[in-house]
Amino acid sequence: MKIRLLAAFLSTSFISSALTQPLVIAHRGASGYLPEHTLEAATLAYAQGADFIEQDLVLSKDLVPVVLHDIHLDTVTDVAQKYPTRHRDDGRFYAFDFTLAELKTLVVHERQELDGKQVFVNRYQGKAAFQIATFAEELELIAQLNRQLKRNVGYYPEIKSPQWHQQQGADISLIVLNMLREYGLDDAKKAIYVQCFDFAEIKRLRIELGAKVKLIQLIGDNSWGEADTDYTALQTPQQLADVAKYAQGIGPWLPQVFDLQAGKITDLVNNAHQAGLQVHPYTFRQDVLPSDISAEQVLTVLFNQVKIDGLFTDFTDTVVSYLKSTNLNQPNAKSPN
Ligand code: CA
Repeated sequence: MKIRLLAAFLSTSFISSALTQPLVIAHRGASGYLPEHTLEAATLAYAQGADFIEQDLVLSKDLVPVVLHDIHLDTVTDVAQKYPTRHRDDGRFYAFDFTLAELKTLVVHERQELDGKQVFVNRYQGKAAFQIATFAEELELIAQLNRQLKRNVGYYPEIKSPQWHQQQGADISLIVLNMLREYGLDDAKKAIYVQCFDFAEIKRLRIELGAKVKLIQLIGDNSWGEADTDYTALQTPQQLADVAKYAQGIGPWLPQVFDLQAGKITDLVNNAHQAGLQVHPYTFRQDVLPSDISAEQVLTVLFNQVKIDGLFTDFTDTVVSYLKSTNLNQPNAKSPN
């Protein structure tokens, strides 16, 4: 009898924690250690135990989805040295103005400001010839590692600047969605989320393009000019209920759920959960925390008090080992999926 009770208890705790175990989302791969969005960064994030690996997507001139955070190339590649005349009138170099073959000639380096100063000074400082990866290459990489290592690490692509791509005459959402369909990934049951900052595009993906895949509405700050979406209004319970008609979750900016300076938790996670939405905020970066707060303290607040469902992080290893350490008494807590 005692044994049966214990078994019942264990199976209940297994089910509930398997359902609630937060997702560790490798933000641009293991970008805390290697140049963002390279296949090397994705591989390291995989090895560090990420549940999902993010791919920001923009199009090349020949309409191939490539993994880059920006429509611009100048802050992460040597494009200005290799193709000095190929900038637009604003002085910027755009991935869309280069064929995939040309993009493949570029060397990817750690993210810099336009003046050449490294954004995160203590991160990767080497000069190896990292390359821009295509979305197809990254899908293949993760699928092959999953097959061999018997894991189910998921994909977390972001459709970048759909309106801007339309202005260039290209439908990035349709191109990406068609690719997902080719790979059997336009499926709500598969380990994949598609994210976008543009609410009109999220609606278009779901309704007009008939996407079946899980969608995440990203929430930025209106001052960033990411899309025409009004992010202040989007965070109200009324609009969150509207988001829930099309998307499975939101990806807010961390300060929108937890104000680190003031130590204040906002209502956003609660309101999103009320609307039935998961919450995956971005971005946990242990190398830019205020000196009087530790990574562990921030993660404890986020997972235990704010109760987020997943976290974008540049440091997959830190978040994975934190979650493991808090589950010491629940060896089966981690879902196999
Ligand atoms: Ca992103």
